[in-house]
Amino acid sequence: MAQRASSQGSAGRSSNVPDTSPTNRLVVPVDRHKELPTILCSRGLHLWWISVGLENRIGILADVARVVSDLGLNIGSSQSWVAADGRTGRWTCFAETRETLTAARIESALQRRPGVTDVAVESDHHGVLIAKGYPILSTIGSRLVAITASPFSAMLDEVRMTLGSGGAVLLYQQGKALGKVTWEGNFSTVGEAVVHEEAAYLLELYSTLGWGQLESVTIDEASKRAVVVVSDSFECASTSGGSSCCYFLRGHIAGFFETLWKVPIQAAETTCRGKGDPVCTFEMTREAAPP
Ligand SMILES: [Zn+2]
Repeated sequence: MAQRASSQGSAGRSSNVPDTSPTNRLVVPVDRHKELPTILCSRGLHLWWISVGLENRIGILADVARVVSDLGLNIGSSQSWVAADGRTGRWTCFAETRETLTAARIESALQRRPGVTDVAVESDHHGVLIAKGYPILSTIGSRLVAITASPFSAMLDEVRMTLGSGGAVLLYQQGKALGKVTWEGNFSTVGEAVVHEEAAYLLELYSTLGWGQLESVTIDEASKRAVVVVSDSFECASTSGGSSCCYFLRGHIAGFFETLWKVPIQAAETTCRGKGDPVCTFEMTREAAPP
C-alpha cells in the first residue's frame, strides 16, 4: 500500500490556543452509539488520523496503541478489522496531542514495530481533520454510502411537500424497491436456512444502520402479518403534529417482508412520531389480489 504522510496544518500553532471550536468529537458520551470516521474539529489541539496495516496476530493492536501513546498522542477513537484473507488487518485511530509532532515521526515509529506492513498519517488542516479512508465497507464487504440523517430526511420531505400524495406513494415505492434489493442481498449472505428462523433478529439491521431503533417485532408467518415498532425513525425526526410520514422506511420494511415471504406485502404506518405518537408502528399484511 502506498504510504502517505502530511504534516500540514500543525506547524507553528501554540498548544495554548483557546477552545473556540463548536465541536470536539473526541469527547463523546460512553454509551452504545457508534462513530463513523468523518470530520473532526480541533479545540486547539493537534489532531491526527492514523491508519496502520498489520499482520493478524494476538497482541498487535496493543503494540501499535502503545507506540502511539508513547509518542504522547491521546487516542480518541479507534477501529480495527481483519481483512478477508484472515492474515492481515488494519487499525485506524483519531488521536490528539498538545505537542507538535510530524507525520514522518509517527510513521517511522510505527513502521519499526514488527508486524506493521504500512502506515498512513494525516494531520489537521487549520484545526479540521477529515478521515480519508475510502471506501467505507460494511463487515460483509458491501460498500456503504454515508449520509447524515437530517439532510436525508429533508430530501424526502421535499419530495412529499412538492408532490403531495403522489410524492408519498413515490417514496413508499422507492423505499420498497431499495428494501427488496437490500434484503435479497442480506438474505443471500446469511443463508436462506436461517432467514425465517431469525427474521425478527435480522430487522435489527435498521438500528445498526441508524434508520431508527427497533423496539419490537411480531411476526405471524402463517397469515403473512407482522408488526414492526421503531422509535427514533430518521424520517419523521423533524416533523410533528401532522400525519404519519415515514413513507420511505415503511416501504423498505415492506420490502423486507415481501422478500422474506415472496408474496406481495403492503405496509401501513398506524402510529408515527410525526403525528405525536411516541413510536412508529408498521403493520404488514398480504396485498389484496387485483379484482
Ligand atoms: Zn413514523
